[in-house]
Amino acid sequence: MARIFNFSAGPAAIPEPVLKQAQAELLDFNGTGMSVMEMSHRGKVFMAVAEEVERDFRTLLGIPAGYKVLFLQGGGKGEFSFIPLNLLRGKTCADYVNTGHWSAGAIKEAGKYCQVHIAASSESQKFTRVPPQAEWRLSPDAAYVHTCTNETIHGVEYFWTPNTGDVPLVADMSSHILSRPIDVNRYGCIYGGAQKNIGPSGLTFVIVREDLLGGAHPLTPSVFDFTQQAANDSMLNTPPTFAIYLAGLTFKWLQAQGGLAGIELANIRKAALLYRCIDESGGFYTNPVARADRSRMNVPFVLNDDALNSAFLAGAEEAGLAGLKGHKAVGGMRASIYNAMPLAGVEALVDYMKDFAARNG
Ligand SMILES: *Cc1c(COP(=O)(O)O)cnc(C)c1O
Repeated sequence: MARIFNFSAGPAAIPEPVLKQAQAELLDFNGTGMSVMEMSHRGKVFMAVAEEVERDFRTLLGIPAGYKVLFLQGGGKGEFSFIPLNLLRGKTCADYVNTGHWSAGAIKEAGKYCQVHIAASSESQKFTRVPPQAEWRLSPDAAYVHTCTNETIHGVEYFWTPNTGDVPLVADMSSHILSRPIDVNRYGCIYGGAQKNIGPSGLTFVIVREDLLGGAHPLTPSVFDFTQQAANDSMLNTPPTFAIYLAGLTFKWLQAQGGLAGIELANIRKAALLYRCIDESGGFYTNPVARADRSRMNVPFVLNDDALNSAFLAGAEEAGLAGLKGHKAVGGMRASIYNAMPLAGVEALVDYMKDFAARNG
């Protein structure tokens, strides 16, 4: 079967050149006569791969000296626990901003370890906006302020960086990391899962300011202790080697797209095309998110008649457009248009949407 356009929220599309290179190298990596996934993580060949992956990640994001980069496991959801375990540093309270499903998940996990103070929430607006900083009520004794800067299910994204003073700002960037340049200096810790915008599932990343290390709760499992993993180059135990290698190929691909400035332009163009199609459909399709906070990565939309949902999805599959069913929390459809989604994929989706509306409107 021909490759289709994959709009799945995660695991998500991986750039085709990345998959092709992995395929070409699968049986014989760099003349070693073995696959990269068969070799020791402590051998010279893989150690060089891992070093280059970290270097490229640092270069792409402009991660300053003074920050450690960790590649771990346990998924984004695991990280919801690793954050309080590592960053409370003896304190008993943390601020959380609630902007949707994934913030709420982080809040639930953090509640096991500390007193969670909700500094702001858009729940009463059904998570259709990012509460502006003027609405935030930060607590002075918080160990950190937690945000989810792209809500994968509700399609809400921060396009500004909160100011939390001396209290470290923490961000779950699972679903928009590497989609545009960011100023890492403004954050104490940035984390996420890899399976949205970096590579395959099973890999997570943590970018953490060094002065926040050293204070993990004593019951923190060693493999999830940022300080111990930082001291061991994320190799305290066997890392997900194949996922790390694939992430590295994606980083090279991103460099070839002009780095984050280049990919941001492509992402702006794709998102604008899709939102315009929704907004100009005369109400056939709607997206409820405040315009300034609309995610460039995840675009949820509903049809004015729910009875048409299954016909829409069936027709989309036939047109080679997969993974468009919305999350049950918001219903309708969701198009995830991460870095790996080419403009041609969004153009094909928009053509299909216009045609479907014309036939059913
Ligand atoms: C997908 C996602 C997660 C959870 O990832 P898992 O690896 O499935 O645990 C957490 N946060 C955000 C923003 C996500 O998109």
